[in-house]
Amino acid sequence: LATEPILQVAVPSPVRRLFDYLPPNDDGALRGLRPGMRVRVPFGGAHKVGLILAVATESAVPAERLRRVVAVLDSEPVVPEPLLDLVRWAAGYYHHPPGEVVEAVLPRALRGGRPATLRVPRRWRLTASGAGADPGALRSAPRQAVLLGELQASPEGLTARQLASHGGAWRPALRALVARGWVAMEEGPCLADEHPGEELPDPPLNRDQGAAVAAVLAAPDRFQAFLLDGVTGSGKTEVYLRLIREVIGRGRQALVLVPEIALTPQLMARFRQRLRVPLAILHSGLSDQERLCAWLAARDGRVGVVVGTRSAVFVPLARPGLFVVDEEHDLAFKQQDGFRYSARDLCVVRARSASVPVILGTATPSLESLYNATRSRYRRLVLPERAGPATPPQVELLDVRALPMNDGLSPPALRALEHALASGGQVLVFINRRGYAPTLTCHQCGWVAECHRCDAHMVVHQAESCLRCHHCTAVRALDRSCPACGAADLRAFGQGTERVEAALRTRFPDVGLVRIDRDSTRRRGSLERKLADVRGGTARILIGTQMLAKGHHFPDVILALVLNADAGLYSADFRAGERMAQLIVQVAGRAGRAERPGRVLVQTHHPQHPYLRALILRGYHGFCDAALAERRAAGFPPFAAIALLRAEAPRRGPPEDFLEQARACAEDTGCSGVELCGPVPAPMERRAGRFRAQLMVVTPLRGDLQRLLARWLPALERLPATRRVRWSLDVDPQEVL
Ligand code: ADP
Ligand code: ZN
Ligand code: ZN
Repeated sequence: LATEPILQVAVPSPVRRLFDYLPPNDDGALRGLRPGMRVRVPFGGAHKVGLILAVATESAVPAERLRRVVAVLDSEPVVPEPLLDLVRWAAGYYHHPPGEVVEAVLPRALRGGRPATLRVPRRWRLTASGAGADPGALRSAPRQAVLLGELQASPEGLTARQLASHGGAWRPALRALVARGWVAMEEGPCLADEHPGEELPDPPLNRDQGAAVAAVLAAPDRFQAFLLDGVTGSGKTEVYLRLIREVIGRGRQALVLVPEIALTPQLMARFRQRLRVPLAILHSGLSDQERLCAWLAARDGRVGVVVGTRSAVFVPLARPGLFVVDEEHDLAFKQQDGFRYSARDLCVVRARSASVPVILGTATPSLESLYNATRSRYRRLVLPERAGPATPPQVELLDVRALPMNDGLSPPALRALEHALASGGQVLVFINRRGYAPTLTCHQCGWVAECHRCDAHMVVHQAESCLRCHHCTAVRALDRSCPACGAADLRAFGQGTERVEAALRTRFPDVGLVRIDRDSTRRRGSLERKLADVRGGTARILIGTQMLAKGHHFPDVILALVLNADAGLYSADFRAGERMAQLIVQVAGRAGRAERPGRVLVQTHHPQHPYLRALILRGYHGFCDAALAERRAAGFPPFAAIALLRAEAPRRGPPEDFLEQARACAEDTGCSGVELCGPVPAPMERRAGRFRAQLMVVTPLRGDLQRLLARWLPALERLPATRRVRWSLDVDPQEVL
């Protein structure tokens, strides 16, 4: 009797291993069972959809306890072998349950077990006459007017699901717009293969761009990671476009990861205009069917380029030729919960196994990437100057100690602002805090409004007349009198974007102004409208959070004000200084992008701080030299590898108990070269009603960390204390708070 094959299946569950099953009881299915095919398996008391990761000849599970697969869902692997390799690698490196890694890889439509085929989604989009129609003409039909506005802001059209997300009875209004001939339904593919407008000619590359392109093309069939270190506006995107075009010309595909697609409509428009091939765009706003469509199109080689956010790193490609990570320093590439992977790092891993180049581009490289470049693991390509006519902005520190402040703005900052406006330019005001004010305090007794579920203050949101916690979902009405002493003297202290907006509106009533932050851009299309106001010149003051720092191109901004740089100087997170420097440089990069030179003023109470001084006097790389020296001395990344074991529970004791036991387990492994720090309470101990603690593992050598984790995690899973906490492991954590 021939022994049956053993199927090793990744099943969605928090257990860090594969599960063995026998093939189903029907001979037909036996043939051709391969890794990458989905199977329905009995698991616990239910059936789950799993993915075959390996086929073995024997199992450690006794034969009588092996169960059979209920059904084989695919006749061909849905996940191609190279992507299975990535799953195996990632599950190993991050020590994460393989079933959960597979969940990150498979589009939701496939996770449920539905067939891996397409139902083409319908969408509605404007006709040419609809595009030019004036919503004002629909005054008597407000629903139609709103719908028209939404569609005008979404040139790709909207699906029924997206239309329904606005609530209300949209179907009659839509029918009316269709009857007017302004809107048409189409059953198109989900791919953005539209090529709006004229084909733009390529600008001739400058010398540095040319050298960068040549360096990558010199060995297109070999793995090499390039750090494209180019100042803002130096033409990095132009370099990507040329390389992608070459790759497509050779019949290959390119994958481009960007931090956030909604924030970069201009970048997307440029890709579409310049790359005349089918393009798949993957972001969180897609429906399940749209995502599946893009995923399958990429896998089957029907698109030349995939542009996507973090999770797009798991999109299969039939013929990969190039990987690009734009703004590689951005925190958005790191998943911060569940399966905590770095899409940037996984992209490098993918490129290596595909034997093709990968480009990490940014004006503000992460210290990790710079360090990899100095050790020749990455090859550094430098674009030191802005492309075109623009000159670099002039950055100055503004010592605001003892100055009278008006809603966060010092007199010299206001003077510079007035001057810039008077000379016809635009101004950008950056403050990294949304809402009106970060605290509400009683002026009589000192009471401060706090979140009942977090160790944090409630933030005043004036427009909504409420208090919000920025660390959980708590919201409550604005207090009218002090809950502690009854006094009616409550005051909002400190500044957020809303307050700065109000102050500047009062001071410059005749100047158009937009505020760009998460609150003001929640509605679909509102960000695009605001950006259009800035580009069209109706808005001349832009106030916003880090959303402003991302890749926008505002040619007429001649002054950027950074209001609260100090927040990054004294933080419990060792990366806070690096983040602050990156933000300042990125904000500065929005100023003076065209003919007129830009000026950047950074308000600070700590003008002597070595980080700020290095940044101002010697630029971003001067800052990095200083920060790297400090990291080396402290034994922190990139000079060490770290992992963070976190635990939380509704009560204070259990997380630290668990971590104490975990620490003992780590010591029992006998692994050397490992330093254990903690357990300690998290810097914000209570969040969303849960107490949190952490244990940090630091090793000078990455191999030692991996060896420890491989022995430690199985032991951790068996600790009885796991039952009383929620715990997680974060390998290469980006935030240690
Ligand atoms: P980055 O991605 O580095 O911020 P971009 O590629 O967006 O830079 O280029 C900045 C600006 O310079 C854009 O307006 C772009 O069209 C222009 N530009 C880029 N390369 C060139 C070039 N070689 N010649 C002229 N203009 C260029
Ligand atoms: Zn009081
Ligand atoms: Zn809270």
